[in-house]
Amino acid sequence: MGNMTGKTIVITGASSGIGEATAEKFANEGANVVLAARREERLEEIKNKISSENGSIAIKKTDVTSREQMQELADFAIKEYGQIDVLFNNAGLMPLSFMKNLKIDEWDRMVDVNIKGVLYGVAAVLPHMLEKNAGHILTTSSVAGHEVFPSSAVYSGTKFAVRIMMEGLAKEVAQSNIRTTSISPGAVQTELTNTITDEEVLSNFKKSAGSMTPLNSEDIAEAVFYAVNQPENVDVNEVVVRPNNQG
Ligand code: NDP
Repeated sequence: MGNMTGKTIVITGASSGIGEATAEKFANEGANVVLAARREERLEEIKNKISSENGSIAIKKTDVTSREQMQELADFAIKEYGQIDVLFNNAGLMPLSFMKNLKIDEWDRMVDVNIKGVLYGVAAVLPHMLEKNAGHILTTSSVAGHEVFPSSAVYSGTKFAVRIMMEGLAKEVAQSNIRTTSISPGAVQTELTNTITDEEVLSNFKKSAGSMTPLNSEDIAEAVFYAVNQPENVDVNEVVVRPNNQG
């Protein structure tokens, strides 16, 4: 029996990085895990790689920018496992750019995925959690949701937004048994920087390479597990985890 046996967690952005590592962690702890992302073949590979001794793994191709698909994801998880105990709103992208370079399409995508995707996740599970008076919604914010630096204006804006929304939700559901958590990672070695197209940002990245050792996705999966694996009356509202040599 794992600590999560009998619990069901839905994870968005589960096809790589932090979402994938969190899926593996919760599967090892015996949970039923529903993996969601757009790249179905990656989800299949991960499903075949991990196993949940007491629970099971399911995948659902989902684009978080679609309200309908997010609702279908929640409905699928409830049909498959009877309930959703935990939603980890983790899908995100980070095409950092200087505002003067007007990467407006990338601004749009960040707002759509990093903010609206999270809200659609909340909308898809909140009625279910209110009805059973239990549940936990976690969202991946960032240390960039606490501070802004040149090139992160829009990305930080999205991460500040979701952190504050989680805080607002926590206050609204304070009288219920629903818990909310923002996970704010520092630099983590994942595919996240692949979406950067701004040449100035990429060249700055190259210059600063090696100045810091990023965390592994597993370090963040541990933080998610810490927040979830508390007694029911304990609500960990925020976890900030960064490499100790990140300024
Ligand atoms: P990855 O690029 O490895 O993972 C991003 C995930 O988001 C992928 O699974 C991708 O799946 C999914 N995704 C992107 N767009 C969509 C969409 N429209 N619908 C559904 N899923 C989508 O990066 P990370 O693991 O690092 O990122 C996870 C979260 O952590 C993000 O919110 C990121 O902002 C945050 N974060 C990361 C940090 C880091 O240093 N790595 C630091 C702080 C925060 P697919 O393409 O298959 O849809």
